Amino acid sequence: MVRSSTTSRSLKEYQAKRDFKKTPEPSGKSKSKKALATGKPGKHFFCVQKHLASHLHYDFRLEHKGVLLSWAVPKGPSLDPADKRLAMRVEDHPLDYGDFEGVIPEGYGAGIVMLWDRGTWSPEVDDIDAALEKGDLKFTLEGVKLKGSWVLVRTRGWKSDSQGESRSWLLIKHRDGWAGKVNSAKMEKSIKSFGDFDDILAADNPAVWQSNRPAEGGAAGEMLTEIIEKAAKKKLAKQRHSRTAPQRKAKAKLKGKRA
Ligand code: MN
Repeated sequence: MVRSSTTSRSLKEYQAKRDFKKTPEPSGKSKSKKALATGKPGKHFFCVQKHLASHLHYDFRLEHKGVLLSWAVPKGPSLDPADKRLAMRVEDHPLDYGDFEGVIPEGYGAGIVMLWDRGTWSPEVDDIDAALEKGDLKFTLEGVKLKGSWVLVRTRGWKSDSQGESRSWLLIKHRDGWAGKVNSAKMEKSIKSFGDFDDILAADNPAVWQSNRPAEGGAAGEMLTEIIEKAAKKKLAKQRHSRTAPQRKAKAKLKGKRA
């Protein structure tokens, strides 16, 4: 029997969940793969997106055969080999998602997406498909934050995909020079814009969720309330700054002339 559960390369599920008139996320319909070209044989693109939606999680993505295989890691990757981090396999994402950072105003995944890490990954096995099928993929990461040897192992879980395969995996750091007693969730900022969630929201529209927030209660809700407040303040400060900037420029010009 040919199983395709763990290696389906269709973006149908991804596209069915989203309304591309309402989300800034890439549709996956364009053929551009420029952003992901690693230029190194045997090295593939990988990224991690920190995503504050109804719950905070980290989306771990490995490029394979034209799509990004994706796992949602609630606690985020840990550099400590003693931490086995639950990673729920989710739908494959388009390659151009790998550069995405921004605000999803409504619908599926509504919230803030931060590009938390990116770089290259290389398999420590000969056959990636066979490893995925087996549920044991060993690989090396060369990211900004995550480096060295890792493994994704499938476990028995209560949620399964359309083929009846468990969606539950564990993401574990192997013991090497890049391991340590470090909770990588403390490495908070974006490797694209270098800001935090509130900076990403401030660059967009902090008032986007005046009604109907993506996370109402709990830890994610509290986090979101704080981020919205901070973002609104930052946006206001920026607007004040840009209003006075032309005047300051004119003054500087005058000064320059006098000198
Ligand atoms: Mn997500």
